[in-house]
Amino acid sequence: MSLPAGQKSADLFKRMKGFELLGTKEHPSDFSLIRAEYINTRIRLLALLFSVLTPLWIPVDFLILPDGTFLSMMLARICLSVSLLALWFRTSFTHSLRRARQRLIILMVIPSIFHLATQMILGDYLKDESLASYTFLPFLIIAIHCVFPLTLKEGALLAFLTIFALSVDEMIHGRFLTLQSLNTLWLLGVIMGIAVWAQLSQLHMQLKLFEKATTDSLTGLLNRRSFMHQAETELNRSERYARPLSIALLDLDHFKNVNDTHGHQAGDQVLIHFSGLLKEELRSTDLIGRFGGEEFIIVLPETPVHEAEKVLERILDNCRNQAVRYDGGVVNYTASAGLGELVSDIRSSLHAVDIALYQAKEQGRDRLQRVPEQNQPEMNTYNKL
Ligand code: GH3
Ligand code: MG
Ligand code: MG
Repeated sequence: MSLPAGQKSADLFKRMKGFELLGTKEHPSDFSLIRAEYINTRIRLLALLFSVLTPLWIPVDFLILPDGTFLSMMLARICLSVSLLALWFRTSFTHSLRRARQRLIILMVIPSIFHLATQMILGDYLKDESLASYTFLPFLIIAIHCVFPLTLKEGALLAFLTIFALSVDEMIHGRFLTLQSLNTLWLLGVIMGIAVWAQLSQLHMQLKLFEKATTDSLTGLLNRRSFMHQAETELNRSERYARPLSIALLDLDHFKNVNDTHGHQAGDQVLIHFSGLLKEELRSTDLIGRFGGEEFIIVLPETPVHEAEKVLERILDNCRNQAVRYDGGVVNYTASAGLGELVSDIRSSLHAVDIALYQAKEQGRDRLQRVPEQNQPEMNTYNKL
C-alpha cells in the first residue's frame, strides 16, 4: 500500500535507508503512479518491438526447417506476434501499479509459452547447431527484465516465475536436474541476479530524481509545484465526499531583519526550525509546502476552519516561545498566518488567504487572520448539496 499523499511523503526521503528498494510500502502514492506509467510505456514498446521482430524470422525457418515443423513453427510465431500486438494495443487508462504488474507478468508469460511450444515443436531438431538460437530465448526473457525499475520483491517474483516456467519445460523434456539442466539454470540464475541489480539501480535513481523534483532541499517540505499538485488531489477528494478542507498561508515576520542581524545561515536555521514545528503540529495526512523564501502553505483535509484555527494558534504560539540556537547565538522569531476554507478552485482560495495574511501583517504581525465569510470564494456544487 502506498503512503497517503501528505507531508510524510516528502519526509520519506530523510528516512530512506534502503527499505524503499525492498517493497512499495514506503513509496509516495504519486511516485507509484509515475512508476506505473513508466513500466506500462516500456511494456508497450517491448511488446510492439517483438511483435514486429517475431514474424521476420519466418523466412529463415522456411529455409532450415522441414515442411511440417515449419508450419507449426510459423503458427507459433504468428500466435506470439498477435498476443504481443494485443498487449501493445490494449492501453491502460488507469495507471495503477497493480495493472502495470499484471501486464508485466503477461509480458513474461507470453514468450515463456512460446519457448515451451518451440521446444515441443522442434524436439530432436534442437540438437542441430543451426537452431541454437531457439535455446537462447530464456536468456532474452531475462534480459528484458533489466529495463524495468522494480523493487526487490517484484524483481524476485518475476525471476521466480521465469525460472519456474523454464523448470517446467526442462521437466517436460525429462532434463530436469540433469547436469545440462543444472548448468542452464545456474547461468540463468546468475544473469537474473544481474537483472535484479539493474532493476534496483533504476528504481533507486528514479526515487532520487523524484525527491529532487518534489521537495525543497533546505526544509525537506514539498516544493511549490508538488504541493499544488497534491492540493488539487485533496480538493477533488473533499469535493467528491463533501468533506471540509482548510488552507493557510504562513509567513515569518521581519525575516529580512533576522538575516541582516544574525546572518543568512542563522536565517536558514530559523526556516528549518519553523518547518520542524509545522511537521510536529500537523498530521501525516496534512500537506505542508514551502511556497517561497520564508512563506509556507498548508492544507488540512477533514478539518473545518474553526478546528484549523486552534492548530495554527498553537503553531504561532510555539514560534514565539521557542528560541532558535545557532553557532553564534540565539534568534527569536514570530510568524503571521492567513486562514480560510479551500473551496472551488485553489487560485481563488489562495488569493483570499493571501489577503488575510496581508491583513495580519498590517495589524501588527505575530497573529492569525481568518478569511471573512463574505470574502470566502464560492462554495462548489458538491458542498452546496
Ligand atoms: P514581513 O514581516 O513583512 O514578511 O517582512 P520580511 O522581512 O519577512 O519580508 P521580506 O519579503 O521583506 O523579506 C523576506 C526575506 O527572506 C528576504 C530574503 O533574503 C529572505 N529569504 C528568502 N529565502 C531565504 C532562505 O532560503 N534563507 C534565508 N536565510 N533567507 C531567505
Ligand atoms: Mg516575511
Ligand atoms: Mg514573505
